[in-house]
Amino acid sequence: MSVLTSSEICPSPPNEPRPITMTEQPLTFHADASSAGIEITPENKCGFCTNSKCCTYVTQEIDKPKSKYDFEHLLWQVSHENVKAYKDEDGWFLLFETRCTHLHPDGRCGIYDKRPEVCREYSNDYCEFDAPAEDGFELYFEDYASLLKYCKKRFKKWKRG
Ligand code: SF4
Ligand code: SF4
Repeated sequence: MSVLTSSEICPSPPNEPRPITMTEQPLTFHADASSAGIEITPENKCGFCTNSKCCTYVTQEIDKPKSKYDFEHLLWQVSHENVKAYKDEDGWFLLFETRCTHLHPDGRCGIYDKRPEVCREYSNDYCEFDAPAEDGFELYFEDYASLLKYCKKRFKKWKRG
């Protein structure tokens, strides 16, 4: 079991920038906080996060798709492995499930002192450790089939498929 200091733990991306505050206490990675009777706080949470979910994807905002042409284009995009699309209160996004090359197997960020600004701004106050990001999605298309189904429902004269 590896032990990380807070300065080596790697919280990162998503959307709302909030300051991250980390203690200098050593934290046990992959530990079971509840069985250990430890209260999870923003200060120690990353030390208990086993999959560093926030470092395993990127998102890109896209224009709101409106026309059949727009959705045809989106169908092509989500046909690719690990490419998904969603809509939430901030708009439409592509979601690429791809692990950051700087993320070490034990959850450390290999470039922590030089990590991108989006990683610095990301807060773990309420993150994927607390609930799946999908819980906040209004629409979620994990693949071609799910988006095609939506297209057929949205466009009465959708001719394909
Ligand atoms: S998902 Fe949350 S708890 Fe896990 S590493 Fe990222 S910010 Fe920390
Ligand atoms: S640069 Fe570091 S903090 Fe940012 S996503 Fe990669 S591993 Fe996570």
